[in-house]
Amino acid sequence: MGVSDVVVIGAGPSGLYLARELSRVMNVVIFEEDKMLGIPPHCTGLVNLDSLKPLGISPPIINTYRYVRITDLNGNSITFDFRRRAIAMLDRPGLEHYLADELGSATLVLGERVTEISGGFIKTRSRQETYNLAIIAEGANMALTRNIIPWRPTHVYGVQIDTKSFTISELMPRSDDEIVVIFDRKLSEHYFAWVVPRDFHEFRVGLADDANVWVKFTELLKIIKAEKTEQLRPFGGKIVIGGSPNHVVAGNIAVIGDAGGFVKPMTGGGIIMGMLSAKLLADSMSNAMREGLSISDALFIYDTLFRKYIRGKVRALGSASYILHMLINRSLGDVMQSMGGVSVDVDDYDNHVDAILRAASRRPWSFIRAVFSVINELSLIDPSTISKLIRELIE
Ligand SMILES: Cc1cc2nc3c(=O)[nH]c(=O)nc-3n(C[C@H](O)[C@H](O)[C@H](O)COP(=O)(O)OP(=O)(O)OC[C@H]3O[C@@H](n4cnc5c(N)ncnc54)[C@H](O)[C@@H]3O)c2cc1C
Repeated sequence: MGVSDVVVIGAGPSGLYLARELSRVMNVVIFEEDKMLGIPPHCTGLVNLDSLKPLGISPPIINTYRYVRITDLNGNSITFDFRRRAIAMLDRPGLEHYLADELGSATLVLGERVTEISGGFIKTRSRQETYNLAIIAEGANMALTRNIIPWRPTHVYGVQIDTKSFTISELMPRSDDEIVVIFDRKLSEHYFAWVVPRDFHEFRVGLADDANVWVKFTELLKIIKAEKTEQLRPFGGKIVIGGSPNHVVAGNIAVIGDAGGFVKPMTGGGIIMGMLSAKLLADSMSNAMREGLSISDALFIYDTLFRKYIRGKVRALGSASYILHMLINRSLGDVMQSMGGVSVDVDDYDNHVDAILRAASRRPWSFIRAVFSVINELSLIDPSTISKLIRELIE
């Protein structure tokens, strides 16, 4: 039986970021069920470019974007202009490899699924490991989490593919720096579809919904005349879009990332939020150690930060997202028609409150505020303030 200070379950961005941070002060082992990091991929990889710096990382980027055009199948559209390439598509297996390269003294064990976690030890098919602290970073499937911190997230299923298309239509990006988001109930009843250029010729085309996703996705591929290529292999998975547990700590086990509901509910974006949850936990640990406090104290700090600064906002955004989608269901056609061709400047991808207010005062449709919320959610917590918040709690 092995002995570790910290066992991390799952080598997605949340688990790897945490292991990278904690390995500076503790003995960490990280288990990943897949044999290769980041494979199979599931994610579009879109993040706000400015969110990477405060996390202290510069992972490989496939492309960057200045415009987000929201459209329906009839070509009625609204374009948001970020006035610079403010959004990035990360290379998802590339992000995992980048973080793994910085693991320092942490041990990464690939191809080893954790099947049980209890009473201070974890089990995989071939080994057992005792730990002082276990971190679940297993993503949206939550097989282990649901026995430890029971909660039920709202979710949709997303499927996408990297493909070429040479068709010229309103559904295709007009340039390599434009993301197209398709809101149309004929395609996705409760969510949306997307066409994101990887470069000038290749696109990541996807769709998410709560039912019949494959049929709708196939229809989308037909509409945009996706061309068969060697790599025509769909990928995707469960996208958490709402809900939040009451706690993210139980005994000496903590949950981070998708498994703890650290996502932006309107878009299901969890790459940055997952690493942010890892940073909250790692900073809680290192601050507690510096003050001579115990692991339990550190976990208490992490849980308190979550309850105080994250949980309420995620729940509120989840409700707002639900209302938005109801609103869209009722009036999408009319509003899209009346908004045809509207273009709006956006100052900052993360902090969009000003932009919403400016846009709303110029365009008196309540819908525009809602649409803004889809692509621009409030930053839930600023990484540069984490240490200050922890110090306040310790004091
Ligand atoms: C179709 C789709 C599109 C998306 N697009 C975006 C986007 O554009 N932007 C964005 O920010 N987010 C997006 N997301 C969400 C994003 O992928 C997740 O929020 C993010 O990956 C969460 O990171 P994580 O580390 O918490 O979990 P994951 O990335 O899911 O990593 C969890 C890891 O744990 C491993 N694991 C699970 N169980 C075990 C076990 N028992 N033992 C060992 N290992 C285990 C898994 O194999 C996996 O490698 C998208 C998701 C989907 C499905």
